[in-house]
Amino acid sequence: MTPASSSTIPFANTYARLPERFFAEVAPTPVAAPRLIRVNAELAALLGIDSDWLASPDGVAVLAGNRVPEGAEPLAMAYAGHQFGNRVPQLGDGRAILLGEVVGRDGIRRDIQLKGSGPTPFSRRGDGRAALGPVLREYVVSEAMAALGIPSTRALAAVLTGDSVMRETVLPGGVLTRVATSHIRVGTFQFFAMRGDVDGVRDLADHVIGRHYPELAQADNPYQALLTRVVERQADLVARWLLVGFIHGVMNTDNCAVSGETIDFGPCAFLDAYDPSAVFSAIDENGRYAYGNQPGILHWNLTRLAEALLPLLARETEDGVAVAQDLLGAFGPRFEAAYYGGLRAKLGLTRAEEADKDLGRALLEIMGANHADFTLTFRRLGEAALGPEGDAGVRTLFDDPGAYDAWAVRWRERLAAEPMDPETRRAAMNRVNPAFIPRNHRVEAVIEAAIARDDFGPFHELVTVLAKPYDDQPAFAAYAEPPQPHERVLRTFCGT
Ligand code: AMP
Ligand code: MG
Repeated sequence: MTPASSSTIPFANTYARLPERFFAEVAPTPVAAPRLIRVNAELAALLGIDSDWLASPDGVAVLAGNRVPEGAEPLAMAYAGHQFGNRVPQLGDGRAILLGEVVGRDGIRRDIQLKGSGPTPFSRRGDGRAALGPVLREYVVSEAMAALGIPSTRALAAVLTGDSVMRETVLPGGVLTRVATSHIRVGTFQFFAMRGDVDGVRDLADHVIGRHYPELAQADNPYQALLTRVVERQADLVARWLLVGFIHGVMNTDNCAVSGETIDFGPCAFLDAYDPSAVFSAIDENGRYAYGNQPGILHWNLTRLAEALLPLLARETEDGVAVAQDLLGAFGPRFEAAYYGGLRAKLGLTRAEEADKDLGRALLEIMGANHADFTLTFRRLGEAALGPEGDAGVRTLFDDPGAYDAWAVRWRERLAAEPMDPETRRAAMNRVNPAFIPRNHRVEAVIEAAIARDDFGPFHELVTVLAKPYDDQPAFAAYAEPPQPHERVLRTFCGT
């Protein structure tokens, strides 16, 4: 007999205290046969949850939505949004249920949410369920982002439901337990703004300030300060995405978190060969959310946030517009500083020189023209930083290796202006240029093995490799490789 473990999640809920129109109280719908796929023991520990209990039948019943744990106050959050530029006044958690919040060992408050846990009043025509594929993709990619050091929602667990879901085909159902510092989106503000509910906007803003940015409560105008802070966090975030080759895929305003965390890993993908116009999402017909469009789209989304906050930014609407424009104007410089600062580090430089932007852009340009793999080029530059003997590994990534040679001459001149012990430089570069990213073909292979063969070995192995993206991990070298032509993923799907 196994000893009874403490079946507790230390809930301390605040969102449930907000006015009733902020959410709908709704419990998860039980499933046929819960089966654990994986528990994230490290994250559980951070949250103060016993991972052995979480993996026990009792815990798995909670993760599958078959048992509502003590202290949970399950609810579906209301939100609106702009989807592909179109105004949608009502979206909301249609297949997700917030169980509640916990304050972690680090003192940070986080949401615990079940995704795929059954219908809610916001489900519209959807079934409230998630197929196994998207659950595994979100687990892999969100945890990979976190390990890369990029703000992201996290995955606490994945379970199978034992029920089937109908998509284009019949698929196994799953539930992902998602953890976020909050699930409040630009679209949550829009929900109230689109209804002319200024009190709702204010209550939400006060909640967000108290929860994410308590230092802003003392500002002259805390709502202006809030907009400024979200602009900064999001500008930094999109710069980080570009620097690892991440394409979110559905940057609708409802998928844009005011915490500055990456949220919603639907048709997301990573660049193999560098291509600023890369689009993978099957539903993004016009390339609105292409890799290189992401900063511009983010600015557009933040403008929607400013619009929603407008009545709080100044007494007169007129003034509010001027204030909003002014605050949004900070986006460009903030993004550029984060992006070019990051690019400089990827090149092994520490001092800022104006010409570095050009040097970085020149490399990207020849990478694009020569179909060079984004991740491998930067990773192998670390070897090249030791000396020209290290060039061989980089050159072979270019259709015309001579294009790299010409660029490398410029690069070495610049490196010489900043003397540094080569080993130290390589180590610094390896801390910002990952060896391992969730390559699209690897993610697809993991999903395929799980669905076709009920084999979760590849999933576990991929999660393990991606937990240390900056380490060489020679035993897993194959995971660093780009796809063979026949393995290349050309399209990704939300699968909702
Ligand atoms: P997403 O594309 O994942 O950001 O979802 C957009 C909206 O559609 C959100 O309001 C979701 O809750 C809703 N939604 C997506 N899939 C489903 C589903 N299977 N059942 C109900 N609602 C869904
Ligand atoms: Mg979404």
